[in-house]
Amino acid sequence: MIEHDADLSGANTLALPARARRLARPTDVAALGELLAGRDPAEPLYVLGEGSNVVLRGDLPGLTVIPAFDGIDYLDESADQVRVRVGAGVVWDRLVADTVARGWGGLENLSLIPGTAGAAPFQNIGAYGVELADCLESVDTVAVADGWAGRFRADQCEFGYRDSLFKSRRRGEFIITGITLRLHRHGARRVDYGGLAERFAGQDPRTLAPATVRAAVIELRQSKLPDPAVLPNAGSFFKNPVVSAAELARLKADYPKLVSFPHPDGAKLAAGWLIEDAGWKGRRLGPVGMHRDQALVLVNHGGARADDVLALAAAVREDVLDRFGVTLEQEPVALP
Ligand SMILES: Cc1cc2nc3c(=O)[nH]c(=O)nc-3n(C[C@H](O)[C@H](O)[C@H](O)COP(=O)(O)OP(=O)(O)OC[C@H]3O[C@@H](n4cnc5c(N)ncnc54)[C@H](O)[C@@H]3O)c2cc1C
Repeated sequence: MIEHDADLSGANTLALPARARRLARPTDVAALGELLAGRDPAEPLYVLGEGSNVVLRGDLPGLTVIPAFDGIDYLDESADQVRVRVGAGVVWDRLVADTVARGWGGLENLSLIPGTAGAAPFQNIGAYGVELADCLESVDTVAVADGWAGRFRADQCEFGYRDSLFKSRRRGEFIITGITLRLHRHGARRVDYGGLAERFAGQDPRTLAPATVRAAVIELRQSKLPDPAVLPNAGSFFKNPVVSAAELARLKADYPKLVSFPHPDGAKLAAGWLIEDAGWKGRRLGPVGMHRDQALVLVNHGGARADDVLALAAAVREDVLDRFGVTLEQEPVALP
């Protein structure tokens, strides 16, 4: 069923006003194939999950697809390993809760990330030292051009930091219909990152249950991040910029307190620290602002439009560039 002139203001966590000219929520590959076959190839096509990582700049012309494929299936279960096939429309944290409740480890650090399983490979979601790519086996897709159903192995997805082939080189070519993960029961949990390192200091990570780590992650996230249902936002608004070792040394000389993390190309700078040091933490510009506790999170205090968001983002980016010579890249995808 296609909805015409659908309201999307409740379908994006920044709560920006926008409408979709035509909106469909296919529940299986056959329905999606039919939808694509019946569409004029010249008509623009957009894909949305829960809208937790998009900036809707205005109304979406053409067809918007929200894949509503359900199902969490446990396959080839052995004493220590399982494969889990998940429909694109499954809410990500429902999946994490389900796997952890069954004692499977791998996704616990990614607890409470908003969004759908289908969107997870798009930007290779990550948190607390773990990325989706660490336990992803494959991604099922349907090609927009001809409705062809295919599968990408994880090593074909060109995963990077908040990046993949779906977000970059072949953007717009595929609709993700499902993912398959490989999870383990035993082994060490990743608790060497940020607040988890403090929380579990001195404990052997091999003795920690996935549920223990999930509970800690949930507590940390709830204490730090604004809930979009209360204060609309899209999570981190900028990616942590990656700089060379020489660039890091230059910055550290001027800003000894600069927070950075190791990265194969040099270092990843904490974008939140840069924004805070540039004076933007808790500062507002019209109806939008950078959050008072999390400078990296841009929030809608009420009634914001896309122009307000883009003006604030530009002002923050300009100040950070002036002060540090570092360019911030927006994380949420701008549509249309
Ligand atoms: C409070 C908050 C905290 C967050 N914390 C984190 C975090 O810790 N780590 C992290 O990585 N992200 C985080 N995010 C960002 C967001 O949760 C993730 O990017 C999530 O994967 C987006 O899922 P979604 O279903 O909402 O996708 P949407 O926002 O609807 O879409 C995002 C992009 O993916 C594309 N897309 C979505 N579904 C599909 C599909 N089935 N096929 C093809 N393309 C698709 C869309 O076209 C769009 O370009 C956070 C967001 C919020 C609001």
